[in-house]
Amino acid sequence: MGKRKSTMKVQTKRAEPLATTFKCLFCNHEKAVVVKLHKDVMQAELSCKYCHVNWQTTMSNLTAAVDVYSEWIDKCEEERIKHQIKKKRAAKKDQEASQTLSGDNETRREREDIVEEEEEEEGYDGGYEDRTEKRRRVDDYDDEEEE
Ligand SMILES: [Zn+2]
Repeated sequence: MGKRKSTMKVQTKRAEPLATTFKCLFCNHEKAVVVKLHKDVMQAELSCKYCHVNWQTTMSNLTAAVDVYSEWIDKCEEERIKHQIKKKRAAKKDQEASQTLSGDNETRREREDIVEEEEEEEGYDGGYEDRTEKRRRVDDYDDEEEE
């Protein structure tokens, strides 16, 4: 009967603490992203088997592969948002630039009455007038009487 509110997250401890392959954000392949931890240089490297996306970050002794992976996801998200903001800013800058160019041009205003003359050509005849001259030849001559 009723639905139980699942407010409590059940943490299932997976017996795979050494999982080093994850789903790829770019090509969506499962178990495609391999994380390598180079503890000797404190560098973590992550790459996808399929799309060959590659990412590196620094790590600590406590860093696990999954940490690198989640950091990568965060970074990807960050980059995406940054990119979007950049785009928006660029668009805004463009707008502002054009506005200052046209509006801040000293304070003199030249009034120009722009009269838009719209020439409407009405010479176009849509309908072709059929002048059918009905020649009414009243042939009075046609008086043949048949007998
Ligand atoms: Zn991939």
